[in-house]
Amino acid sequence: MGIQKRKVAIIGAGVSGMTAAIELMDSCVVHIYEATDSVGGRATTIEDKTSQEIIDNGQHICIGAYKHFFDLLKTIGGMEHFHILEKYDIPYFYEGTFGSLTSKIFSGKFGLLEAIIRDSNFSFKEKLNTIIFAIKVQMDSISFQNYSDCYDLLIRNKQSEKVIKILWEPLIVSTMNTPVRKASPIIFENIMLDGFLSKSQNAAFYLPNVHFGELFKGFDSVFLKEENKIFYNSPVKSITQNSGKFLVSDEYYDDVVITTPSFISKRILSELPIDIEVPDYSPIVSVYFWTDTKLTDSFMISAVDGGFDWLFNRDKLIERSDDTYSYQITTSDAVHFAKLKDDVILSMMEEDLRKMFGDEFRITHYKIVRELMATFLADKKNNLKRPKVKTHISGLYLAGDYSDNGYPSTLEGASKNGFRAAHYILKRIAK
Ligand SMILES: Cc1cc2nc3c(=O)[nH]c(=O)nc-3n(C[C@H](O)[C@H](O)[C@H](O)COP(=O)(O)OP(=O)(O)OC[C@H]3O[C@@H](n4cnc5c(N)ncnc54)[C@H](O)[C@@H]3O)c2cc1C
Repeated sequence: MGIQKRKVAIIGAGVSGMTAAIELMDSCVVHIYEATDSVGGRATTIEDKTSQEIIDNGQHICIGAYKHFFDLLKTIGGMEHFHILEKYDIPYFYEGTFGSLTSKIFSGKFGLLEAIIRDSNFSFKEKLNTIIFAIKVQMDSISFQNYSDCYDLLIRNKQSEKVIKILWEPLIVSTMNTPVRKASPIIFENIMLDGFLSKSQNAAFYLPNVHFGELFKGFDSVFLKEENKIFYNSPVKSITQNSGKFLVSDEYYDDVVITTPSFISKRILSELPIDIEVPDYSPIVSVYFWTDTKLTDSFMISAVDGGFDWLFNRDKLIERSDDTYSYQITTSDAVHFAKLKDDVILSMMEEDLRKMFGDEFRITHYKIVRELMATFLADKKNNLKRPKVKTHISGLYLAGDYSDNGYPSTLEGASKNGFRAAHYILKRIAK
């Protein structure tokens, strides 16, 4: 007689839920409950009705240090869909002209240093102070917890306003979706040590060359075997417990992995003796637009002075059959942007684009995507509120990107927590 497998419910089929499911699929009976009709969660694909093009809900950038997320993609077959940029080649627009963070010889941490040395916008003193700061971070000789926020950290470590604006702010705001004057220095330290100041493979930028729908399309066929199931369009309203088992939508489970954002998890778990502190959230606003003229050949441009953060060149990133040109701008920490009407956002964006590229282009069509609860605000206060993956209720795990792991809200943070929850369950089985 075979040993009966543990039965596990996973709530949510975002990156965290998919990772937990893949780790558990051979050892347990896994049921996934997903509120929508597809996997991916906040990394999702939508159809723009006017252009009939498939677009994402915003540009996602990964770095080589994304171990858990890439392991998930290797298993479901999405790993070949990336442009890998090992060297720095990032044009930026600052005080009316283009500059560039470029490394021609090195990649990884030495590439970052090379890019700083090459940048003619920085003085000798600025370059020296930036290199000294990077070395101090690497040698672990800065007590990050002693600084109130990243701005405090940078200024007290002799980073000029110009270096903060051109180099650190784009990096911090885009990875943490949090303004420099709020961003947690400890989370920043982890990003630097695991990513940008790490070995070349970890620091490389990975830009998807397909939409998320395509990246994750292998999930169902890999996961759905034996008794494993995925229930789409099945939002879970609440979970209760009876004789040590969890009741989810009329079925009993030995373990439950919750991967929904914290404000939804709090609601779902309101009948169990657990309190989830909901952090502040931070919006990301993306504008997809199409032009009659090519604007750039670069993959991405940092709009240091602009009202938006980054311009991405969709023609360079993905394969498009259309004869128009297509771009996407992203603004993180977009509290101000998110409240504005579409036409106001468009005219602000157009004004910035004209400063960068002149008047010779026409925007033929645009689509604005507002993600109001894109990520938690990665400041010191919210970082302290994050729950552990393993809760005090035996068999209940909190595994979305918000649970404590030292990273901001990212695909890797989400995947890492899904992996952790799964391995707590596997350990119980092994006992
Ligand atoms: C515009 C944007 C840009 C981003 N850019 C980057 C980037 O460049 N790099 C990066 O690493 N990260 C980026 N992120 C963050 C990244 O997308 C998230 O951290 C990650 O996708 C979170 O995954 P998750 O599985 O924890 O949560 P989610 O993706 O939120 O998954 C939760 C799932 O639960 C489902 N659900 C909700 N309620 C219920 C319910 N009641 N019952 C059942 N299911 C339910 C949801 O539909 C969803 O599928 C970005 C996010 C956004 C929004």
